[in-house]
Amino acid sequence: MIRKSTINLNYGNTAKENNLIEFIVEYTKTVNFYIDKLWEKQIFSGRFLSKDGLQTESWLSERAKQCAGKQALQIVKSQRKKKKKTKPTFSGSSIELDSRFIEIQQGNNSFDIWIKLSSLGKKIIFILPSKKHYHFNKFTNWVMKKSARLRVRKDGEIYLDVYFAKKEKDKKQEGKIIGLDCGYKKLAVLSDGVRIGEDLEDKIEKISRKKQKGKAFNRALTERNEYIDREIKSLDLKEVKAIVAEDLKLVKHGTKGKIRKEFNNKLQRWVYRYFLNRLEQHCEVVGVQLHKVDPAYTSQRCSACGYIHRSNRNGEKFKCRSCGYTADADYNASLNILNRWLQKHMVSVQ
Ligand SMILES: [Zn+2]
Repeated sequence: MIRKSTINLNYGNTAKENNLIEFIVEYTKTVNFYIDKLWEKQIFSGRFLSKDGLQTESWLSERAKQCAGKQALQIVKSQRKKKKKTKPTFSGSSIELDSRFIEIQQGNNSFDIWIKLSSLGKKIIFILPSKKHYHFNKFTNWVMKKSARLRVRKDGEIYLDVYFAKKEKDKKQEGKIIGLDCGYKKLAVLSDGVRIGEDLEDKIEKISRKKQKGKAFNRALTERNEYIDREIKSLDLKEVKAIVAEDLKLVKHGTKGKIRKEFNNKLQRWVYRYFLNRLEQHCEVVGVQLHKVDPAYTSQRCSACGYIHRSNRNGEKFKCRSCGYTADADYNASLNILNRWLQKHMVSVQ
């Protein structure tokens, strides 16, 4: 799992900014120079080798030239793959810098990191303090990957994206496993009885009342997403080592019986995809394992006796036609989700 963190490089320090812009301009020029040559020589594969008659007069360091060459080759390859006949152009809006340009230095305290960009050419060096950036604090248990992306936005603002990876072994090995069902009118119901996002319906209704793509509409979307994020963070996962959820990738559109009616609602499907993505990210941060199971019939199956029937479920209520078991429909589904995973992965299930 890789997470991205963005550092704003618009210091208001003109000399530094000019250096950075000078580098970006030269790098962009060099990439386009290489694209021209590669396109001309019809080189669309292999590795980038500057000795293939591709020398440039650029003031970039040898490393930066190599990096530009690699990026040029990638661009040409991708253009070729798309079967486009026209020569591509590099806009310079996204520069991939590999580990050789980046050095991370520990500051005076553990929250203090300095990122040093060097070897760019013309002795240009950037030292970026990260303490202003709260993301680094959140990622103290993560390993920073030694590659970065220099990005120029349309409005001219410059950003550096750095990447973090978390090791699998940091995941919890002790604790309980819980099932989670994306709810009917709420965000989710857990097999230990916890419910989250009970105001979700209100948030979604608010969006549908607004004019699409208007300012108020966008504000309502942001509000909904922030609400989902808050609800995820409110989950108490201290005693939990793993969560089992539905694999939405396995939901087939329009397959009767496999998919709940309410999932057909496009907006809601989007919400669940967003929710599960954010849940996955949160689990990475707190070290909880996230497992996914096929959601087929989890809402129609009786968690007590295993009987599957469409009419077992009626909106928010579940009543088994076979054994008479009654429960909240989402709660019943969360138990099925949990059991589906346990049956597959535990040798002995009580
Ligand atoms: Zn039953």
